Amino acid sequence: AHPSADAVLEGLDPEQREVAANPTGPMVVLAGAGTGKTRAITHRIAYAVLSGAVQPQRTLAVTFTARAAGEMRTRLRDLGVGGVQARTFHAAALRQLHYFWPQAIGGAAPEVMPQKAGAVAEAASRLRMRFDRTGIRDLAAEVEWAKVSMLTSESYAAGARRVGREAPGLDLTAMARVIAAYEEVKAERGVIDFEDVLLVLVGILEENDTVARAVREQYRSFVVDEYQDVNALQQRLLELWLGGRHDVCVVGDPAQTIYSFTGASPAHLLGFTSRHPGAQRVELVRNYRSTPEIVGLANLVLRTPGGGRRSGSVVLEAQRPGGPGPELLSHPDDPAEAAAVATRIGELIGSGTAPADIAVLFRTNGQSEAVESALAERGIPYLVRGGERFFQRKEVRDAVVLLRGAARSDDGSVPLPDLVRDVLLGAGWSREAPAAGGAARERWESLSALAALADDVHAADAEARMPVLVRELDERIAAQHAPSVQGVTLASLHAAKGLEWGTVFLIGCSDGYLPITMAETPDEIEEERRLLYVGVTRARDRLVLSWAGARTPGARATRRPSRFLDGTASILGEGARSRPKGSSRRGGGSSGRAASTPRRSTCRTCGAELTSAAERTVGRCAACPATYDEALFERLRDWRLETAREASVPA
Ligand code: ATP
Ligand code: MG
Repeated sequence: AHPSADAVLEGLDPEQREVAANPTGPMVVLAGAGTGKTRAITHRIAYAVLSGAVQPQRTLAVTFTARAAGEMRTRLRDLGVGGVQARTFHAAALRQLHYFWPQAIGGAAPEVMPQKAGAVAEAASRLRMRFDRTGIRDLAAEVEWAKVSMLTSESYAAGARRVGREAPGLDLTAMARVIAAYEEVKAERGVIDFEDVLLVLVGILEENDTVARAVREQYRSFVVDEYQDVNALQQRLLELWLGGRHDVCVVGDPAQTIYSFTGASPAHLLGFTSRHPGAQRVELVRNYRSTPEIVGLANLVLRTPGGGRRSGSVVLEAQRPGGPGPELLSHPDDPAEAAAVATRIGELIGSGTAPADIAVLFRTNGQSEAVESALAERGIPYLVRGGERFFQRKEVRDAVVLLRGAARSDDGSVPLPDLVRDVLLGAGWSREAPAAGGAARERWESLSALAALADDVHAADAEARMPVLVRELDERIAAQHAPSVQGVTLASLHAAKGLEWGTVFLIGCSDGYLPITMAETPDEIEEERRLLYVGVTRARDRLVLSWAGARTPGARATRRPSRFLDGTASILGEGARSRPKGSSRRGGGSSGRAASTPRRSTCRTCGAELTSAAERTVGRCAACPATYDEALFERLRDWRLETAREASVPA
């Protein structure tokens, strides 16, 4: 092969090399978190292009998020490969739909509505059904499930029954009527929704041979990342793209399946070899991302009580030198937890950690608010991913309106980045960062993120024009993926998949959040466990898990640490799991007073008589939040480090 192609294989281990150096034919890579799946397929594409096996513009790489697509394009550029299409299923489909709509259907493709809720509410009210906001959201989610499962209003009830699914708060026939009415509302408004982008394209590819041939001519080689979370609709689209060919490499980790509640299924990954007989199968188990301490915890999270493995999971082998042990901290209430996290982040930034290398992860978007205000109070920049906040910011909405306007009057002469900067100036952006921090700085950061997005689109395709940027924005708005802003990342566990940070704070590690109260069936609870696994494996060097006993200050502590942390004492220690204590010394802020406790017979908080030796040692009754015991913390920490080192020695 070409010398630069061989260079691409350097820095890969033997199994990763097998993935990269065999760029044609079907291949499935089944591998654990942080084992270099994404790296291996990125190098595979680079090798294929540089060795001349595949032309870059004939390759389609499908990633799970727009951010991952951007990262892959950057990485490929660094490896000397430009022109590869790295996109999400939606972005790739939207592009093809826009391109082929005039020829296949006539006229221009309709606009994609960013949200379903409005049309679903209208559909429900036409049927004289009353739902509150949560109810409407649940209905919208069910409509989405039906569509990604490729069920229509006619086939929905039977399809749902087949998998034992219930509709949210109504029977299956009523739900089918909601779906029908929703489709009507949409048609009247002349818009399509997010799933329609794929559904319509699938329809066109199934029925229009000319279009199908053109698409297959364009793309010869496919790579799909995070394949454990594809749904039936995406799977169908991939099959149509392939059209019976087999130049496809899929990679995934069944233990990171976290979207099955929306209709995704690891069955597509596990059934790959039967759909592509003779497919090469590669497994990766060496974890290059995290310290052995973090890897050790990840392994424990997926271990069964009997010491076996949960289905689909592999034991990760740590590769990096040791680091600080993961911590589990308990706090009296959610605001105290947020304050402790923000204080700790302030310290890390103060000692030189880049804010962008820190993330705070949580199960539900509602949990981010307390952290946001704690960070804002301390003047720490942050951005929220996987929430709606970025695109709800006024300056961002205004800028998007202006960018759409500019896309309509785009004249085919100024380079995209310059054009976008001119438009952003109209939205109040300036070329220089404002001297002051606070809100002005935040506004500037958001608009700069849009400018950086234009740079990224331009770098991937120098010919790209405003309509391309607006499509990219549409996709991001629909997927709630904010372009990157310099700052601490706040993200839901779902939005964090595939990503990594030096330091990760995982808050809300209590039953009720993880697993979430809504998870009831064993399958649902196992999916929650996998979410914890995804969260733990995002951290490279430092991982801080925490939980709080109560929601609000002064409330009785009713929560307990996540059941998924049972059996992890060898790494996390027992210190923070029994009952909520005050924040730790380092994260403590105002509540961080260390207690050098003489034995007491009454609770220092409520005055109740103390009944057990443990209660008398800490001077509080089991129901009251206790202050953190510094000395005990240090002892546990040392012991934890010892055991963690023993537990997983780098190979
Ligand atoms: P996830 O399951 O979270 O998607 P992944 O399997 O895709 O993870 P990558 O993101 O590709 O893993 O890699 C994880 C980290 O390990 C990255 O920082 C990557 O650069 C690094 N890495 C991967 N392979 C190697 C290797 N052979 N040598 C050194 N570092 C590696
Ligand atoms: Mg990956």
